[in-house]
Amino acid sequence: MGRAEDRGKEKLSSNGEAAREANESANDPQADAAGANIAWVQPVDNCAHLQATDLVTHEQLPRVTSACETCDDESENWACLSCGHVYCGRYVQGHMLQHHGDTQHPVAASFTDLSFWCFPCEQYLNGLTNPRLTPILDAFHQQKFGEHLPDGRLELQLES
Ligand SMILES: [Zn+2]
Ligand SMILES: [Zn+2]
Ligand SMILES: [Zn+2]
Repeated sequence: MGRAEDRGKEKLSSNGEAAREANESANDPQADAAGANIAWVQPVDNCAHLQATDLVTHEQLPRVTSACETCDDESENWACLSCGHVYCGRYVQGHMLQHHGDTQHPVAASFTDLSFWCFPCEQYLNGLTNPRLTPILDAFHQQKFGEHLPDGRLELQLES
């Protein structure tokens, strides 16, 4: 109760919890599963849909502050990794799910917790271990927190 210490980027909410997981906890993905009200099941490293998808280029990546292109809601949006368009999640109006239904674009990234979701698999994909997702995760992490992912592996891939 009362005023939880404001730790800036890491809010003591279930969302913050999920974000911290996604950012830091490649080794122990189940650590906070008990307290999280989103389904933090163990993410998979890869799937056939992701493998078959041409991902958006770095230049096409939207800002993490983008609003849903259909309803303009700003609270809980996802980026489609096939086309870079931004739509809201299922707790808003579900426009990303609708976009998936319209286009069959399979994988989206959450601006809320920087997780990756495959619609056909109904599974999270691990942005820290998949080499095609990691640069996207890092780009969104930079936008959101102003710094690279705290992960030494990234420098290998992102050195320009
Ligand atoms: Zn929407
Ligand atoms: Zn799309
Ligand atoms: Zn899949």
